[in-house]
Amino acid sequence: MPLESPRFKFDATLKKVEANQAVLQKGSSGTAVHLVQFALLDLGFSLPVTTGNQNNSPDGIFGEETKQAVKKFQKDSGTLTDDGIIGQKTIRELDGLFLGFDRRVRLHFRSIALTNVPFERSLSNAEIVYAQYGIKIEFASGQSIALTESQREKFDQIDQECNWDLNDGEFNELQGLGSRAPANDILVFYVHTFADGNTLGCGGHAPNRPACTVTANALAWDTAHEVGHVLLTSRFSPVHVNDRRNLMHPTSRSLASTPILTDRQVAKIRSSPLCRTV
Ligand SMILES: [Zn+2]
Repeated sequence: MPLESPRFKFDATLKKVEANQAVLQKGSSGTAVHLVQFALLDLGFSLPVTTGNQNNSPDGIFGEETKQAVKKFQKDSGTLTDDGIIGQKTIRELDGLFLGFDRRVRLHFRSIALTNVPFERSLSNAEIVYAQYGIKIEFASGQSIALTESQREKFDQIDQECNWDLNDGEFNELQGLGSRAPANDILVFYVHTFADGNTLGCGGHAPNRPACTVTANALAWDTAHEVGHVLLTSRFSPVHVNDRRNLMHPTSRSLASTPILTDRQVAKIRSSPLCRTV
């Protein structure tokens, strides 16, 4: 009976817990603990210690507070042994409570650099990051934009600096190319490169035209990161998080493990008009 919840089913440690090859208990730490803590928060449990650091919340540290919350969850279930340990039965019980998605975000891919872009991986990685929080990333459309020779010269390298509100310039022109997307969907443009070679993506876009731009040499989680900027908006602070495991860390998007989000980031994303209830 493999895990089915989008929140849990991609996590290697939780798969082991479900297969009775591991447990999460006091002293455990990492993304698996973070995901269980997040589920407990969404079930209404209060975890003030675990959520105390806004840059790392929930913290993924299985301490006494998490143990007591797990015990309470087990006791309330009426069928589980209230030992405060996440084992096979407890993870299955949690899994059953989060089977569906509760939110969805629709992405439209537009490419002027189709040959180099690992679309499939960008999409599936974005799906996994947001699925951890019950948010479904939907592929709404994909289009390779045919450019004229002068457009090709202009857009081959984006020279404009990345800013939040783009009312003019190359980004704005670029994001006017191709088919429009319905309001409240997000356009993701793929280009070859930016003049600033260190920057691999940009979440800036024209007001009321949600879009981001990602370069062809972007790393595994860059599309998810730029979509994160669009969802969080320029008004969310901090823009970048000083925790290397976080999707919104400025530079750690080549991580092998799946990036995480804080509860505050997720709350803001869930409240976005671009993140609709299912
Ligand atoms: Zn960023």
